[in-house]
Amino acid sequence: MALQGAFIEHIHKLRELGIPAVEVRLPQDMPGLDGLIMPGGESTTIGKLMVAYGLMDPIRSFAVQNAVWGTCAGMILMAKEVGREQPVLGLMDIAVERNAFGRQIDSFEASLQVEVLKEGRTKPFPAIFIRAPRLVEARPPAQVIARLADGTAVAARAGRLLVTSFHPELSRDLRFHEYFLEMVQS
Ligand code: GLN
Repeated sequence: MALQGAFIEHIHKLRELGIPAVEVRLPQDMPGLDGLIMPGGESTTIGKLMVAYGLMDPIRSFAVQNAVWGTCAGMILMAKEVGREQPVLGLMDIAVERNAFGRQIDSFEASLQVEVLKEGRTKPFPAIFIRAPRLVEARPPAQVIARLADGTAVAARAGRLLVTSFHPELSRDLRFHEYFLEMVQS
């Protein structure tokens, strides 16, 4: 989804993996898609643009059968509970807290053990957090798949829906994109 935020970086990662990616701005851009990535950026802005461009219901219908991944602001947009008034898709039964890491450390990098990734037990994933949200709660079928060392939940999956509070498109590691592509193909 290319309304605002870090979508070009996702497109570059997909092209690196040999996947043709298109920019989605309007419902007309959606036919033929196999999966959708909602990028980081500013979730209130993206949500308002989604309403203005009529994307809310087409994406909700798409997500019934297809894979959708939200990174950072995209995770907020996929959540059912965000703790404030703003337009969201509400696709996943998760509660998030925006800007959860405070001002002093609102951007940081952390090595995460993410067992669902290739070599996930032994090779940490370099996760970049930028004014990131955290997962406050994930209710089944949503399951937490990554936590910071202090236990804070930062990624979850429910069927073909994936959320990460960090930005895998900014790391030099393709494994999260590969993981999402497996979900798209499953
Ligand atoms: N702080 C932003 C928000 O709440 C998210 C930041 C990001 O996507 N990097 O929408």
